[in-house]
Amino acid sequence: MFWQKTTIMATFHQTTSFAEPHHCIVIGGGVAGITAAVRLAERGVRVTLVEARPDIGGRVQSLLDRESGDIIDNGQHLLMGCYDATLRLATTLGTMPLLRRQAALRVWFADCTNSFNLSNSPDSSTSPADIFSLDASRFPAELGMAWGMLTLRGLSGSERYGLLRFAARLKFRLVRPEGKTVLELLHEERQSERVIMRFWEPIVLATLNAPLHAASAMLLVQVMRLAFLSGREAAQMLSATTGLAEVFAPARKFLEERGSRVITASVKSLLVKNTRAEGIISARGEQILSDSIISAVSLGQCAKLFPAEMRARPEMQAWSGFASSPIISVYLWTDTDVVEQDFIALLGTQTQWVFNRRKLCDTSEAVPTRFRGHLSLTFSAASALAGRTNEEIVGECWRELQEVFPAAKSAQLLHSRVIRERHATPLFTPENECLRPETHFPAQVLGLNNVFLAGDWTRTHLPATIESAARSGEAAATTLWEKITTTRGADAQGELP
Ligand SMILES: Cc1cc2nc3c(=O)[nH]c(=O)nc-3n(C[C@H](O)[C@H](O)[C@H](O)COP(=O)(O)OP(=O)(O)OC[C@H]3O[C@@H](n4cnc5c(N)ncnc54)[C@H](O)[C@@H]3O)c2cc1C
Repeated sequence: MFWQKTTIMATFHQTTSFAEPHHCIVIGGGVAGITAAVRLAERGVRVTLVEARPDIGGRVQSLLDRESGDIIDNGQHLLMGCYDATLRLATTLGTMPLLRRQAALRVWFADCTNSFNLSNSPDSSTSPADIFSLDASRFPAELGMAWGMLTLRGLSGSERYGLLRFAARLKFRLVRPEGKTVLELLHEERQSERVIMRFWEPIVLATLNAPLHAASAMLLVQVMRLAFLSGREAAQMLSATTGLAEVFAPARKFLEERGSRVITASVKSLLVKNTRAEGIISARGEQILSDSIISAVSLGQCAKLFPAEMRARPEMQAWSGFASSPIISVYLWTDTDVVEQDFIALLGTQTQWVFNRRKLCDTSEAVPTRFRGHLSLTFSAASALAGRTNEEIVGECWRELQEVFPAAKSAQLLHSRVIRERHATPLFTPENECLRPETHFPAQVLGLNNVFLAGDWTRTHLPATIESAARSGEAAATTLWEKITTTRGADAQGELP
């Protein structure tokens, strides 16, 4: 009742009296918007989180596969121990138990490039691929990673030394990635083709979702420093034991319990008057008034919210030059479990990563026992596959799995599902990386003092990931909160200047 009165009917000044808490509209209920909303609501700000879709979660979506009874995601996501803001959010929402953490980083690889010919394989019970792992569990902290690199199989002594030397240069900030692509940096750092193929390419595809020749080297440097060279905990992989969306879904209840709310509406535009946004207008023409706004929509949607004269600004026009990078995910169900590892990178095949969901997830009792094997395969930066049909993609994947994993040869493929995310993440290149906007871009560049930006694509210095989204949400909430408290004192009421 209270909401109906204040949202559609009230004027801006009625909603910002000193008796009422500051009201912020957060547009977009992905991880960025959820984080911003939760961090503001816990400080007593009244938040309206406006999400166009019926469910929050944005690019983290989970769904029930009716045939198998399994919950699957719109694509397999992995988190890492260095995802501080994301894990803080999960802690606040009480969903940490839904995440499984590796004891120490261990990544398996199957190199299918050498002697990968099934007909030549003398023993059909062993894989013709060279299966090895990067094992950082042997020693604590960065020593573990150094040991993992030094013992990486299939590399010469000088290649191992080169890898370790580069890692040390990254750690001690001796590398100059500015304006370079990942491939340019790797060549400059004298990484051999074999090291690039066996080590760097799978890591870059998984973390940056971009081909090496296009990806911004700044982001690889950041990922290496934060995730792989900051100790054992930072490098641990985490995965959801159920649908990942369940980790974030309790945000709705969290907000409602604090006098905030989530509404389903598509925002058409901001309601701008001079140097302020007084609220938003929905696609159905409703006005919702507020004291401040955080836009947490994706890159492709953000500019549309602003008035035409602001969209014409070159700083905003630049956003239209960002391409996006697709991810294709293939879910397979088989009658037996065919892959030993939790997850493994395949080298020299179309398939890039294979995740064994029977090992990573808690399988519900509702899943029929005939689906003993359940895999998720990932194709990052998957533009080359865009023109292929689902049947072609599944056929190719299954053929590759049968060649790499002997157990798959006698297994039956019972069911499959292909999920295409055409705009999975923005493609950050050396050229556009520096054009990512800060959270206070609307104030700084457009003169809109009470509007802030969040989203995985904003300037977090991270690749477009869940952690980038969560950090951007925290940054927007903190920036707004500081503005509220410096303007009105710590009790945080009222309107921003
Ligand atoms: C298949 C796939 C696999 C991935 N794998 C990983 C991984 O392993 N690890 C990792 O860290 N990251 C991964 N990512 C990236 C990660 O999912 C995203 O970076 C993150 O979820 C983005 O969150 P966001 O809040 O910034 O944006 P979004 O999730 O896009 O949220 C924006 C929200 O705004 C809403 N919206 C848009 N316009 C409007 C409007 N006008 N009005 C109201 N609402 C609007 C949208 O509906 C959406 O819910 C993956 C992404 C995909 C697609």
